[in-house]
Amino acid sequence: MYQSILRNATRRSPSAIRPVCARGYAAHATPQPFNWEDPLNAQSLFTEEELAISETAEAYCQERMLPRVLQAYRDEHYDKKILEEMGELGLLGATIQGYDCAGVSNVASGLITKAVERVDSGYRSGMSVQSSLVMGGIDEFGTQEQKEKFLPKMAKGKLLGAFGLTEPNHGSDPGSMEATAKPHPTKKGYLSLSGSKTWITNSPIADVLLVWAKHHETGKIRGFLVERSECPPGTLETPPIKDKNGLRASLTGMIHMDECPVPEANMFPGVEGLRGPFTCLNSARYGIAWGITGALEDCISRARSYALERKQFKGNPLAKYQLVQKKLADATTDAAFGTLACVQVGRLKDKGEAASEMISMIKRQNCDRALQNARVLQEIFGGNAVSDEYGIGRHVANLFVTSVYEGQSDIHSLILGRAITGIQGFY
Ligand SMILES: Cc1cc2nc3c(=O)[nH]c(=O)nc-3n(C[C@H](O)[C@H](O)[C@H](O)COP(=O)(O)OP(=O)(O)OC[C@H]3O[C@@H](n4cnc5c(N)ncnc54)[C@H](O)[C@@H]3O)c2cc1C
Repeated sequence: MYQSILRNATRRSPSAIRPVCARGYAAHATPQPFNWEDPLNAQSLFTEEELAISETAEAYCQERMLPRVLQAYRDEHYDKKILEEMGELGLLGATIQGYDCAGVSNVASGLITKAVERVDSGYRSGMSVQSSLVMGGIDEFGTQEQKEKFLPKMAKGKLLGAFGLTEPNHGSDPGSMEATAKPHPTKKGYLSLSGSKTWITNSPIADVLLVWAKHHETGKIRGFLVERSECPPGTLETPPIKDKNGLRASLTGMIHMDECPVPEANMFPGVEGLRGPFTCLNSARYGIAWGITGALEDCISRARSYALERKQFKGNPLAKYQLVQKKLADATTDAAFGTLACVQVGRLKDKGEAASEMISMIKRQNCDRALQNARVLQEIFGGNAVSDEYGIGRHVANLFVTSVYEGQSDIHSLILGRAITGIQGFY
């Protein structure tokens, strides 16, 4: 359905000193209208293809997802058909080339996550795990057989993935994980995986679980594709974690492995240590940075509509009061800046020039600003903010989670601090 973007970038001559010459910059520009929904005209930076993909994703999310989310959130229910619907539209694993994936630019994939998270961060989480963490991991590190076996079905949402890194005793510090892979005592050509993972998105319904565990010979972390249908009873349990107070439209669970037999052919061959999981996480963190700008924009839109309609003191709409206007101005500025930063990192990612610290920077900044602004915008709704029908409380609860997972905000500041000073300060 979607074509790869052809890039015909030309490089300027490195020769240094050239005379300054005018290139037709508008000296006396006519006043331009201000679009509060896209204040810095990010749209002008997208290709025709990216705009078309964005329109498809936004239309699907608003027409098909939005009507389901309130009840799903109340019931703590995740409809796994959503991934199939996304698969039909080519939205899963969208940057992967081949294997029935769309092969679009990183900016286009960011626009998809933004459309999904405008509805709900939980729906985006389910998609990110499928697309970036599991499909992305297989595409980056899998064997040809693994790619052919898993990617086409995952692209269609027929096979669901989960990514098991976090353990009950090791969250921010996954290098200390306890899960192990040893030779299986009875099955030749198999490894035996034991250990527990927690807070794992999609785990209760996943067909294939990308689990990270330490290999018995080297003590190094390796990636394993655990297929639920191949696990004998009692060797793999994935109980849900219920009664969450955020991300309730997404399914979260644990992974318990008790001498779970996994064929050696299901291990990623060439990657050892934290490079494996961190590469997958980088791609997902980039998506989160985009996604939460969608959630923040939805908060702005809801708060603006409410402030224009609600009248207090002499029949004035709340929107007339300057303290309310400041809240909208702050949030709109952060959403616009956050989007432009994502576009820049996305373009660099397409050229293979994005440092992982750039992704830490936009993940941390966009998540922190979205959470802070959403909390402030919530105030505009007064008592009505407490009703879930206004949608703002759901975003606030979700945005707390997005600032915690895939590297809590402070952990990303430590990564940046290390890069800025050259001093490794936290482990
Ligand atoms: C809804 C949800 C879905 C999730 N989905 C997944 C998933 O699909 N797969 C997966 O593997 N994981 C998943 N996670 C786990 C998530 O990535 C972890 O919760 C996160 O990495 C933080 O780990 P922790 O909760 O153990 O917190 P901890 O590591 O215990 O940290 C607690 C606090 O201490 C701070 N801290 C820790 N170390 C330091 C330090 N050295 N210096 C300063 N401060 C520090 C942290 O910043 C944080 O504020 C999910 C979590 C949630 C809530």
